[in-house]
Amino acid sequence: MEDVFRFADDLGPLKLVHIHRSSVGLKAVVAIDNVACGPAIGGVRMAPDVSTEEAFRLARAMTFKNAAAGLPHGGGKSVIFADPKMPLSDKEQLIRGFAAAIADLKEYIPGPDMGTDELAMGWIKDEIGRAVGLPREIGGIPLDEIGATGFGLVAAIDLAREHIGLSLTGARVVVQGFGSVGQHAARFLAEKGAVLVAASDTSGTIVDEGGLDLAVLVALKAEGRALHDHSRGRKLGMEAAIDVPCDIWIPAARPDVIHGDNVARLHTRIVAEGANIPLSGEAEQVLAGRGVLVLPDFIANAGGVICAAAEYRGETEGAALVSINEKIRANTKAVLDEVRRTGGLPRTAATSLAVERVHRAMRTRRWDAPPG
Ligand code: NAD
Repeated sequence: MEDVFRFADDLGPLKLVHIHRSSVGLKAVVAIDNVACGPAIGGVRMAPDVSTEEAFRLARAMTFKNAAAGLPHGGGKSVIFADPKMPLSDKEQLIRGFAAAIADLKEYIPGPDMGTDELAMGWIKDEIGRAVGLPREIGGIPLDEIGATGFGLVAAIDLAREHIGLSLTGARVVVQGFGSVGQHAARFLAEKGAVLVAASDTSGTIVDEGGLDLAVLVALKAEGRALHDHSRGRKLGMEAAIDVPCDIWIPAARPDVIHGDNVARLHTRIVAEGANIPLSGEAEQVLAGRGVLVLPDFIANAGGVICAAAEYRGETEGAALVSINEKIRANTKAVLDEVRRTGGLPRTAATSLAVERVHRAMRTRRWDAPPG
């Protein structure tokens, strides 16, 4: 009994729902963390090795991300215990079964995450009338296609560079994880005059201090090929992206890539966290001590969810981009002003900003009085 409540604190989770539907082999967990700001938006993750704890931790991260972004949405997340590579017809059955099971959880709006995509969100919308990250044909804004998260990341970088007196013209950029977020971030930075000097994917790192040809690399990836297939540049191992000196370092691959053991290898002025939790707390502390500005994930990579919230309100693609730019610039400024005032870490300032917003929203709710 107590075990079910082991995550419980002042903020949530409001509901942790375990779903079992044997007819379609469905096992899933929905974590609705906090809905004081509005209905929870959060992705549906499908993988064989997910857990209740993962669902809760991701839901909490969404509470902070949505509040920090100033969205009228709380945080939620769901996990489905299954292999996303199953035949499409089986996947459709499973997702539709999941959708029917969450029909009454009206304070949760599902979106895409690892193992689910726009099509899956289309099936959920068809079943229960609510989902974000939809196909364009049914009112969706294709956030990976337009590069919503990369666009937001560059808005954060552009604001932050003023803080440290860095010009983007000629600024050297390294992208770890040349996928959707990494490519779009590199593209928007290049439009502002920055130069991509290294990029990595699972094939390894490609380096050219004189500047890589971004368009060629993007075309290569669009063909499903690896960065190491490119004929120019030095080819190094996957880890080498950490060692290339630069002005802006963008982790856009996996969590936990920079920690106490490798942070000394990083030589940059800004780290813009495209991936979620790419740096350990220790690494963020060490970098702050060296005067490196780290832009925390849930402030800098919120472009995707700001776009999803705009889609939910029925806004256009153009309005979504305006909203991403405005919100991320304002929130980055609020975080950096607080860092300047307190001398603390950007992540600490960002977390206070998010928690304060959630508490303010909780004061408006009859059943959600915040502590104090
Ligand atoms: P993606 O799958 O399109 O790209 C990931 C890229 O990273 C791939 O090119 C892959 O080859 C590479 N990669 C994987 N492991 C690597 C490693 N150890 N070293 C170097 N490269 C590696 O994914 P994405 O949508 O671009 O997301 C990237 C990260 O950003 C993820 O952590 C995701 O959770 C996070 N994120 C994404 C969004 C979004 O809108 N897509 C929003 C917020 C956060």
